[in-house]
Amino acid sequence: MNLRERTLELARAYRKAQAPLTPERLIGGIGASLAYTRFPNDQDGAFDFNTQTILIAEGQSPKRQRFTLAHEVMHCLIYRDDDLLSELHEAYAGQELEAQLEALCNLGAAEMLLPREAVEAGMAKRGQSPRLIPELAEEHQVSEEVAIIALAEYGPSPSLVLVAGGKPMRVFFSARNEKMLDRVRREAQVPKGHPLALVLETALPYKGSAPLPGQRIPYALEAFSKGGRVYAVFREQMN
Ligand SMILES: [Zn+2]
Repeated sequence: MNLRERTLELARAYRKAQAPLTPERLIGGIGASLAYTRFPNDQDGAFDFNTQTILIAEGQSPKRQRFTLAHEVMHCLIYRDDDLLSELHEAYAGQELEAQLEALCNLGAAEMLLPREAVEAGMAKRGQSPRLIPELAEEHQVSEEVAIIALAEYGPSPSLVLVAGGKPMRVFFSARNEKMLDRVRREAQVPKGHPLALVLETALPYKGSAPLPGQRIPYALEAFSKGGRVYAVFREQMN
């Protein structure tokens, strides 16, 4: 079993043991305490291993705080899983290790809060549509980040899912399936004239071919806008 599958298994087992996942029950399963704080940077949360305390940034939306909490719980679960931890250290080092660990914690947190079956039921009806992002988020009371991660992970083909907006337009959050090789960094600019920029400008949905923002390789893109944000799914084109 690979690292992602094992992480998902950890998350699923934890969800089943701790359901319903109120903040108290989320944190209760690992025996940690919870504190809200103001971070000097724009950090969302942290796990203080010395005091076994999960720190959550003040002033963010409850959905975002809940996702951060689940993410920090995943840090703890992975940290306590000797096999998973040593495999992770065998496979990666340095910054790549950090990045993989963060991605695994996001993946586990998403699975905790938004079960795979719910995402697959949505995709069975509508395909891997970007419209599922706000719909799943609303229906399951999770942040859009959670829906984005799940939609990328469980999509039928290698894909990258993102939400973008703002002025100048930039990527707020993205997640990709492990088979998708290209990635987009957070805060990546969306160039003027890119289909995502046109969707934001015109509020018309888009279905066609486009590269990731600032890149060259074309993907099959489906995007639409809602409430000043653009939701998009980039899929590898099947030849
Ligand atoms: Zn983290």
